[in-house]
Amino acid sequence: MPQDSQTPPPPPSALRETGRGVEGTIFNIDQTAVHDGPGVRMNVYLKGCPLHCLWCHSPESQSFKPEVVWYETRCARCEACLEVCPEGIRSLDLIDEELRARCRLCGACVDACPNGALEILGRTVQAGEIADEAVRLKPFFERTGGGVTLTGGEPTAQPDFAFAVAALCKQADIHVAMETCGLTAWDTLEGLASVVDLFLYDVKHPDPVLHKQYTGQSNELILANLGRLVEAGVNVIARVPLIPSINDDPETIGALAQRVAELGVTRVTLLPYNPATPGKYSWLRREPPLPGAARQSPEHMARLYEIARAEGLQLAPS
Ligand code: SF4
Ligand code: SF4
Repeated sequence: MPQDSQTPPPPPSALRETGRGVEGTIFNIDQTAVHDGPGVRMNVYLKGCPLHCLWCHSPESQSFKPEVVWYETRCARCEACLEVCPEGIRSLDLIDEELRARCRLCGACVDACPNGALEILGRTVQAGEIADEAVRLKPFFERTGGGVTLTGGEPTAQPDFAFAVAALCKQADIHVAMETCGLTAWDTLEGLASVVDLFLYDVKHPDPVLHKQYTGQSNELILANLGRLVEAGVNVIARVPLIPSINDDPETIGALAQRVAELGVTRVTLLPYNPATPGKYSWLRREPPLPGAARQSPEHMARLYEIARAEGLQLAPS
């Protein structure tokens, strides 16, 4: 079942379940992704994440529940949506957490909008549906060395669904990658590792106190799980989202590179900041974080690459 974003991930019960009927909540599928793993990929975005990173580039992924989003640039302020809500919510006020909690996702406001400015983001799907779509795309994967990537949100926070999708894809001989923040029970990660070919493992800050300040959780379990994955011989690439003034200075990247190298990681991806991200915050009527933050310059990136290499790490593409 989908969970509220404040509750911890579910236990890894029935992790061996590979049934087609296992349900999960997703908010998007991109069938032609060229990042998050090799080749052309089908990226499946699972909804809900146990972290709340200050700079989150997918704020619409944070809640485990579907939610109404508002596309400001399409809205004509005609107010057709405002009178139809059976809960008495004025849709444009969904920024208010209390009102958001009252929304029962009936879709009346979405249907009333003549401009497609409202959408319910998030839907329940069965693992078999996702696997069938992956099998349909298999010829494209084979031509490019691609496959399926489970991302989010946080795939390990819906472990039974993630396992079922990955296991069904593996049965169909399709490459499976998983992007993860690593904040989950080791048993969950170990179970998923048996059906995942490649982990794209996010590491954000070397300091546990600052990590908690920026993401809501310490990095201790995350780094311990990373070390155990590497020790188990699992294929892992560490990924660092570079956030201006938070972790993109040479000292922080140096400490982070040293820490992951100590854990046995050999490959790392440094991801430049994506300044397009703040636009998504308007969908949820939230203020964007880090105003004015810009993508790192090529010179700055070159310096950070050098630092990672100096720790013996090989640079991997995104
Ligand atoms: S989805 Fe339904 S309950 Fe939610 S805000 Fe729109 S009309 Fe109201
Ligand atoms: S009905 Fe659509 S266009 Fe009109 S105010 Fe509501 S969201 Fe905006």
